[in-house]
Amino acid sequence: MISQEFDFHAPTTLSEALELLAANAEDGKALAGGMSLVPAMNLGIARPTAVISLNRLAELDYVREDGDVVRIGAMTRHARIVSDEVVAGTFPLLAQAAAVIGDVQVRNRGTIGGSIAHADPAADYLPVVLALGAGFVAASTAGERTIPARDFFRGVMATALAPGELLVEIQLPRPPAGAGTAYLRLARLEGSFPLANAAAVVDGGPGTVAVGGTTGAPFVLEIEDPEALDEVERSAHDAAADAFPDLAATAEYRRSMAGVFARRAVEAALEQRNGG
Ligand SMILES: Cc1cc2nc3c(=O)[nH]c(=O)nc-3n(C[C@H](O)[C@H](O)[C@H](O)COP(=O)(O)OP(=O)(O)OC[C@H]3O[C@@H](n4cnc5c(N)ncnc54)[C@H](O)[C@@H]3O)c2cc1C
Repeated sequence: MISQEFDFHAPTTLSEALELLAANAEDGKALAGGMSLVPAMNLGIARPTAVISLNRLAELDYVREDGDVVRIGAMTRHARIVSDEVVAGTFPLLAQAAAVIGDVQVRNRGTIGGSIAHADPAADYLPVVLALGAGFVAASTAGERTIPARDFFRGVMATALAPGELLVEIQLPRPPAGAGTAYLRLARLEGSFPLANAAAVVDGGPGTVAVGGTTGAPFVLEIEDPEALDEVERSAHDAAADAFPDLAATAEYRRSMAGVFARRAVEAALEQRNGG
């Protein structure tokens, strides 16, 4: 039950939403799908004095091809990412990540922008957008700026967004023609957050692997030789030195899984590149 009173706003334009956020920059919260914010408010973890719903902003719900980039509006629901033809044809790993988020209700309500802005360390999208080299467009009443995914995630539920800023668009560059990509996750139960997850992109030369679920913020590694799988595993294991423990897994186990899932994701991407 939400015990705290708050003002509820349902703007119909982005500029109106940004004005409301600016006016409530310290204690206001944007509401997207509500799949993380509402439980947090129920538990009293989040206590906003103003809730600004983005659900009437149809202008933030889109998947658009634009030359070498695909633009995805922040209010695009997970279910649309699962079924969108452009996403399936260009970034199958993004569709795969969306397809395993929670359950059908969560996918019908939850949004890609909400998931990225919330920055749960184990969120399915995070390694995918990191490995793909995404850029995030943040908007406020002061204007817009684009933040590379690599500079965005700062820790557990901490991002580069400033108070009053809204994530409005995810920009994904097309992977090189013939590249192999993969997304893998380790979860104890279907529909639950992963304990570790990894996404990889490889073409002819060096590759990229990103790992989530093990450290406060997901991390990304450039890999000189993707075929050197022992080295990939070692590098990811090293990078997960500050893996966190919780009731589901020890820090050592998570660190070990960072290496194992980085390796498996690169292996799967190599297989896909080679037509497997
Ligand atoms: C039962 C259950 C199971 C789940 N399982 C998984 C899972 O397996 N994998 C997974 O990745 N996720 C999982 N989730 C989380 C789900 O993906 C949520 O959709 C996501 O975390 C938040 O998206 P949302 O649109 O609901 O955002 P909300 O809950 O509305 O918002 C979350 C936070 O982000 C902020 N915010 C929202 N949109 C923006 C924006 N555009 N700009 C700036 N800030 C914004 C809000 O103010 C709030 O602080 C699960 C959730 C539930 C309830």
